[in-house]
Amino acid sequence: MSSSSASSELIGHCLCGEIKVKIERESLNDISNGAYLCHCENCKRAGGGLCSYGLRLPEDKVVVLDSKSLIKKYDDKNTKSKNLLERYFCSQCGSPIYGKRSNSPNILTIKLSLFSDKIDQLPCPIKQIFCKEMMKWEKKIDGAKHYDESAE
Ligand SMILES: [Zn+2]
Ligand SMILES: [Zn+2]
Repeated sequence: MSSSSASSELIGHCLCGEIKVKIERESLNDISNGAYLCHCENCKRAGGGLCSYGLRLPEDKVVVLDSKSLIKKYDDKNTKSKNLLERYFCSQCGSPIYGKRSNSPNILTIKLSLFSDKIDQLPCPIKQIFCKEMMKWEKKIDGAKHYDESAE
């Protein structure tokens, strides 16, 4: 039993490897949350990519290992929803780690980019938000729900 419980965890890490994030593998398949892509301008600036690839999880389903206390946060006040979004990142390498919204403080939006070496295990996003801020040449994912702005 102990070996199967060990393999039921998924461990991701930032670029420098000092911050690790541990989630249960089954969390990836939680349809009520589901992986999503956010195409908003702020996510692009914060992550340096075309979108953020995230998963909303209750705080108690996530273990953040940061033995050198490198994690820092940026208070993103300039959000479309006007709700403060705390963006946590590694101060050594700059990787985004997770976000936390002031209106749902017990939910973390884990950046699935931390698990980029596990491409055969990461789920296809079930929704894409802020599609109106996608690049004109980007294609939407078939089968995902598409929202011009936030899904709420
Ligand atoms: Zn790092
Ligand atoms: Zn966003």
